[in-house]
Amino acid sequence: MSIATRYRVKPGTSVDLSQWKTDDAEGVDRDEVEAKTEANTIAISELQHRLYAEHKRSLLVVLQAMDAAGKDSTIRRVFGRVNPQGVQVKPFKRPTEDELAHDFLWRVHQHTPRRGHIAVFNRSHYEDVLVVRVSNLVPEERWKKRFGVINGFEQGLINGGTEIVKIYLHLGKDRQREKLSERLTDPTKNWKFEAGDLATREHWEDYMEAYEDAITKCNTDDAPWHIVPTDRKWYRVHVISEIIRETLERMNPRFPEPKLDPVSAMKLLEQMR
Ligand code: AMP
Ligand code: MG
Repeated sequence: MSIATRYRVKPGTSVDLSQWKTDDAEGVDRDEVEAKTEANTIAISELQHRLYAEHKRSLLVVLQAMDAAGKDSTIRRVFGRVNPQGVQVKPFKRPTEDELAHDFLWRVHQHTPRRGHIAVFNRSHYEDVLVVRVSNLVPEERWKKRFGVINGFEQGLINGGTEIVKIYLHLGKDRQREKLSERLTDPTKNWKFEAGDLATREHWEDYMEAYEDAITKCNTDDAPWHIVPTDRKWYRVHVISEIIRETLERMNPRFPEPKLDPVSAMKLLEQMR
């Protein structure tokens, strides 16, 4: 079983996050794994180059996690080698007034990847069934209907040629405490700390329930969720690089046929001054 398959949620499974590991690196050789991660990031960059040349399909990577799980550093490590013209990272923050005046997908749809590109969502439309649910930002009868809306939306993207990979970075509650205290003790990390992080941590169990529900209800054959052990950075980055590489390899983008016959074009070029 590949690493990507190991952490993929089987369709039809009812997810209980307490049964999924937040650290699964026991007995894993760190040096060996880091060398593979390195190779994966190079492969991802080369595959994106082919995806761009092919200009037919695209890849959407959805990242969701509790605060301080390491989404940002994961993005830097996994996609840092991709041509900046070919990857767009979109962080979704608290919606603006204008965004709130529309349906919840309005702000999301315009950031889905164009052909040949990879889009990485740092948080996503799933916040609208997570924070929105836990903090009671809209009534239950409204967010409950969003699971079906999300599945339809994602299916529409897939029909249009977009591959979707969804990843939940599964952080342990104790590990979050360590990472939040680092943010308070390390002056170079103070800026990352927000009062909201504490409020969110206070509702940890509610969040776990909301994540379980969202992952269970929006885990389709075509757009599956992955639950990645996140407590150790090098292991998390490795697993996610494996998932992205495997997905792109399965897509197998190809260089297109030349637009005109290269031999006759070469003859024309040679005749020119
Ligand atoms: P961060 O990703 O840590 O910079 O924080 C972004 C914040 O925006 C998080 O607290 C999210 O919960 C919040 N956020 C993102 N999307 C939404 C949404 N649709 N409704 C309310 N809050 C959101
Ligand atoms: Mg934050």
